[in-house]
Amino acid sequence: MLNNIKEDLKVFNELIEVFLEDEKLNPISDNIKSSDIKEVLNISLQNEASIGVEFTSALRDLMLKSPKSSSKLFFNQLFGGRHSKAVLGDLLAVFLNNSMATYKIAGPQVAIEKEIISKVCKMSGYDKNAGGTFPTGGSMSNFMSLVMARDKVNIDIKYRGINEKLIAYSSENSHYSIAKNASFTGLGKDNVRYIKSDEEGRINIDAFKNQVDDDIANGFLPFYLNATAGTTVLCAFDNVEELGPICKKNNIWLHLDGAFGGSVIFSKKYNHLIKGIAQTDSFCFNAHKTLGAPLSTSILIVKDKHDLYNSFNNDATYLYQTHDDDFNLGQTSIECGRRNNALKFWTMWKAIGTNGIAKIVEHEFSLADNARNYVNSNSDYTLYSFKDSLSVCFNYKDFDPEDLCTKLYESNTLMVGFGHFHENGFVRLVTINGENTHEDIKNFFNVLEKFANENTYSLKRIS
Ligand SMILES: *Cc1c(COP(=O)(O)O)cnc(C)c1O
Repeated sequence: MLNNIKEDLKVFNELIEVFLEDEKLNPISDNIKSSDIKEVLNISLQNEASIGVEFTSALRDLMLKSPKSSSKLFFNQLFGGRHSKAVLGDLLAVFLNNSMATYKIAGPQVAIEKEIISKVCKMSGYDKNAGGTFPTGGSMSNFMSLVMARDKVNIDIKYRGINEKLIAYSSENSHYSIAKNASFTGLGKDNVRYIKSDEEGRINIDAFKNQVDDDIANGFLPFYLNATAGTTVLCAFDNVEELGPICKKNNIWLHLDGAFGGSVIFSKKYNHLIKGIAQTDSFCFNAHKTLGAPLSTSILIVKDKHDLYNSFNNDATYLYQTHDDDFNLGQTSIECGRRNNALKFWTMWKAIGTNGIAKIVEHEFSLADNARNYVNSNSDYTLYSFKDSLSVCFNYKDFDPEDLCTKLYESNTLMVGFGHFHENGFVRLVTINGENTHEDIKNFFNVLEKFANENTYSLKRIS
């Protein structure tokens, strides 16, 4: 039978058994040249059905040849690892297939989403007027915050477009979604001012203040600041406590992009890094980055839920037929049919408690501390990042970081990326996989050193 869920669940379990075993034995899949992919894998679609072993082998090969983002040697991205309870929740969400637009079609799933949002609002020091949503990721969370800030300037902008000379601010180290979002909102990429950072990658407070004063003097209307909790390269935390009063004084919406580092909110030991968060107008973090929930799990909270509603509601009598808008989440989201991204995070949170989540965050910081100590105490290394961060940026001997990372990948040895800050380029190790042990981090350095020393003549050097 071509459509039989029980049969296919058996196939699923068999495939996962094979995959998990392979992930241990071959943590890095053989990379396939993009131009060869259709020769290596049975990807082409045909008129005839593909059945039995032909079909399952095609699936098996596809899985085993895909990059293994949860393996012990994957450090390439700001996500990694998989928390089993979150995976469980996500599989259930696929089965339930509710759309989060209305209470009528999602029922208790709406309450699951609202419970998470209300908990996070409380942890942020927002009061009962606060609200939030689950956008499709950090980029989208940032986008929604920019739309709300724009509409807060004048709600008529929703209808007539922007006539005001609006200016948004961000750090020179902020995520690239800020520029794209400026274009999508009609603000324009040229109307974002990128503020220089201090030597540790945080927004320079005086530079921000001066830029705002200059802009006002020149007839512009400052309206939005995107601050970052965990910049993408250095994992630097902007000083929200000092930025807050400047924003308040100038009527600037303060959004805190915590896509990478915002999960420190769960830890009493590290939430000082976002001290002053109660002064923000909106805040987001990605549970798919540091907490091991599957892609994508992004949470956006807003100090005043009316701002969310005012920007994202629309009449639709064919959809909103019952219940109050508080439970019809489609009135505060971009999508109509919206995937249930809340259940996986709820399942995990329910199973391990807030304390369990705090432990994951604290463990990841301790992995970074150890890695930083290793780099600092070894004269073959140069360190480029700072304490209280999940990014450990370094160069090994005088090997060119870009060439080293590329060749580690091409030789199926290790997946790690490189980055830049001011004039320096470096390898960026991110300790965002809470399942990794201190041993695994030690192994990362061993693998990298062994490879560099064995290929010492073919690798480029920093001049
Ligand atoms: C990853 C990241 C984003 C984007 O999040 P996505 O979920 O990948 O869209 C935004 N901001 C920062 C600081 C990030 O590190």
